[in-house]
Amino acid sequence: MADVIDIAQERADLILAAQIQAARAPAARISAMLCIDCDRPIPEERRAALPGVEQCIDCKELAELNVKHYRGNL
Ligand SMILES: [Zn+2]
Repeated sequence: MADVIDIAQERADLILAAQIQAARAPAARISAMLCIDCDRPIPEERRAALPGVEQCIDCKELAELNVKHYRGNL
């Protein structure tokens, strides 16, 4: 008979397995040719260095600044 702790352990194992899978997945992702925000081409060096990259360096920096800005006001 499974008790609450067994169910919680099974759930934690499933979550961990999903997180490991998600952490491995980016290596197989395809990088975008054009930035999703500004539609400018993403340089080949950036696409090769960051599998699954979707933003150009300018848009990524802007997005990170926005995150910092809004987190700072919490
Ligand atoms: Zn961009």
